[in-house]
Amino acid sequence: MSLKKTLTIAGSDTSAGAGMQADLKTFQELNTYGMVALTAVVTMDPETWGHDVTPLPIDLLDKQIKTALSIGPDAIKTGMLGSEEIIGRAAQAYKDSDADFFVVDPVMVCKGEDEVLNPGNTEAMIKELLPLATVVTPNLFEAGQLSGLGKLTSIDQMKEAARIIHERGAKHVIIKGGKALEGQEAVDLYFDGETYTLLTTEKFQSSYNHGAGCTFAAATTANLANGQSPREAVINAKVFVASAIKHGWKMNDFVGPVQHGASNKVEKIEVATKEV
Ligand code: ADP
Repeated sequence: MSLKKTLTIAGSDTSAGAGMQADLKTFQELNTYGMVALTAVVTMDPETWGHDVTPLPIDLLDKQIKTALSIGPDAIKTGMLGSEEIIGRAAQAYKDSDADFFVVDPVMVCKGEDEVLNPGNTEAMIKELLPLATVVTPNLFEAGQLSGLGKLTSIDQMKEAARIIHERGAKHVIIKGGKALEGQEAVDLYFDGETYTLLTTEKFQSSYNHGAGCTFAAATTANLANGQSPREAVINAKVFVASAIKHGWKMNDFVGPVQHGASNKVEKIEVATKEV
């Protein structure tokens, strides 16, 4: 079969804009065979949209990983892992696999909640995941944590963070300025160890962007599996997610997910690149 296989090790977002649901939708849109090893289930209180995270037993995760690896993923992505133990399992899954690509989305907070899931996780990500990562996809906050630089507010600080994260073992780093970086544009910084490149689109309405981060990392994973270079993979992932954000929709009073299929079915947004 020529279809490439992609595996996400991630949580379930029952509202289905983010998490493994976003990953699977994206894997499908980008012509890969998507698989899941589930770490936790996130549910929302219909009255307040407060999040409840229920981890799955670790032996159940082990069984899922065993099954998925027997099918032979070409690329593996991580999403919400939630504990040091699970971070270790995700690293081991990649080592045990024959996959060529490992995309680490270093999820530290659950959207809607602003508490870091567990500070010990950051250390474990640095130690166990970064050295294996083909591409790591931190947002501004996560890049500040992974680099130890704290709050990042400028392109120069993003460059410094990308350099440190690369030094910690990730082969390719993309720091997503996204909506957190001030300005009219959504700017991400890509670093391959030599060259810094800015990836830019217009900044779209930002209320209906739930799942943007997962979707970006999943698109990067699928693009790598399909043979794109890391640079092409992140540029095209940004096309995919920017289109999905522009056509995001209001689900209820609390949340609006991206439209995962927008770049294939509605409109493809162009991404400008510039070396800095
Ligand atoms: P979030 O953390 O909000 O889920 P990320 O910061 O992970 O989103 O960004 C994912 C991708 O979406 C990045 O490429 C980022 O630049 C892009 N992005 C985020 N918000 C917007 C926006 N309002 N308009 C256009 N692109 C955006």
